[in-house]
Amino acid sequence: MRIVEKIVYLDNAATTPVAPEVLEVVTKALSGACGNPSSHYSVGYEAKEFVDTGRAQVAKAINCQPGEIFFTGCGSEADNWAIKGTALKLAKKGKKHLITSQFEHHAVLHSMKALEREGFEVTYLPITSDGFVRPEDVEAAIRPDTALVTVMMANNEIGTIQPIKEIAAVCKKHGVWCHTDAVQAVGAIPIDVQDLGVDMLSMSGHKFNAPKGIGALYIRRGILPYNLIDGGGQEGRRRAGTENVAGIAGIGKALEMATGHLEEKMAHQRELRDYTINRILKNIPEARLNGGLEHRLPGNANISFPGLEGETILLDLDMHGICASTGSACNSDSLDPSHVLLSIGLPEEIGHGSMRFTFGPQNTMEEAEYLCQTLEEVIPRRRAMSCMWLQSENTVRDFNLKK
Ligand code: PLP
Repeated sequence: MRIVEKIVYLDNAATTPVAPEVLEVVTKALSGACGNPSSHYSVGYEAKEFVDTGRAQVAKAINCQPGEIFFTGCGSEADNWAIKGTALKLAKKGKKHLITSQFEHHAVLHSMKALEREGFEVTYLPITSDGFVRPEDVEAAIRPDTALVTVMMANNEIGTIQPIKEIAAVCKKHGVWCHTDAVQAVGAIPIDVQDLGVDMLSMSGHKFNAPKGIGALYIRRGILPYNLIDGGGQEGRRRAGTENVAGIAGIGKALEMATGHLEEKMAHQRELRDYTINRILKNIPEARLNGGLEHRLPGNANISFPGLEGETILLDLDMHGICASTGSACNSDSLDPSHVLLSIGLPEEIGHGSMRFTFGPQNTMEEAEYLCQTLEEVIPRRRAMSCMWLQSENTVRDFNLKK
C-alpha cells in the first residue's frame, strides 16, 4: 500500500509514457485511416501515408534510407530476426558460428540458445569489470566460419555504451555481418548508422515515448537475412503481416521528438543521474555504482546496497510512490541474480541488493532529491533489521571485483 499519493517514475529503461504529441498522431491514425495500407483506394492510401511518414521519420533519425527500415512487433522480434535470419542464411555457406557478449538482453541470449540447440556454435564474450566488451576480444573470437557478431549498443541494466563503431570496423575487416541491439540507445543518445558502420540495428518504440508493440530493424542495403515471418508482401516482402499503422505513426513521431534537442535532454538527465549517484555514494555506506561512469547512458544509475535484497528496497520505494527496478524488467519476476551484474564480476549476494534508477527527460531535480531522501531513510532502517547485513560484516562487504 502506498503511503503517498504522488508517483515518481524512475524506470524509463523498462518503458516510457506515450508523449501527448505521439498520442495525438496515434489517435488520428486509429480513428481516421481505416484502410489497409496495401489497398488501392483512397482510405488505403491514407493509411499508407501514415506508414510512409513513420518510416521516413525513423530513417532520418538514424541516418539511413527509408527502404532500410523494417517495422517489427517489438525490439525482441528485431533481435530474433537479425540473429536467426542471419544464421539460417549464412549456414548455407557453411558459416555456423556466432559471436555475442555475456550481458546481452535475453532477446539475444535466448535466440543464441535456440540456435545452439540446432547445431550452431556461439562464443559469449567476457565483460570488463566496468561493463564493456573489448573490440580486441571480438577480433580474437572471429573464425573463418563466423556468420555474425552481435553486441548491444547500451546495456539495459548498467547503461554502459559499447564501442560499436570499433566492433563494426573489426567485423568489416573480416567480412562478418555486424548487428547491434540498440533498444536502449535509440532516442537516448545520437545514433548514426553510417558513422557506426553496422549492418543491422534493432530498436523499440516504447523506450522513447511511442506505444508498446512496435519496433524496427535497420538492415543495410545489400544485407539479406532470411525472413522470420512469411506471408504477404509487406515491408518489401521481408516481414509479412498487415502493418501496425498507428504504432508506426507513433514510433516515427516519437523518434522525431526524441532526437530533437537531444543534447539538452541528455545534459538534463546526466545532471539528475550524477546528482543521484554522488549523493547515494556519499550518504549511504558501502553503496557502489555498477558500470563505469564514462560512456554511460545519461539517465542510468545502477547501484548496489550490500546487505539487502533489491525486492525489499523496491517495495519500500513503491510505498513512497517511486517506481524503479531491481534489474531488467523482463527478469524482475525471477529471483536469479542478474546475469549482467554477474558478468561484471559482482558476487551474487551483492547483485541481489542492486537497484536500477533510470531518468527520462521529463524527470525533475526534485524527484531525484526525493529518491535520495527516501533511500537515506529506508536503507539504514532495513539494514538494522537485516541478518545478512549484521552477520556478514567481513564476508559480504569484503569482496573483490575481477580485474
Ligand atoms: N533489448 C534490450 C537491450 C532491451 O532493453 C529490451 C527491452 O527491455 C529489448 C531488447 C526487448 O524490447 P521489446 O520490449 O520491445 O521486445
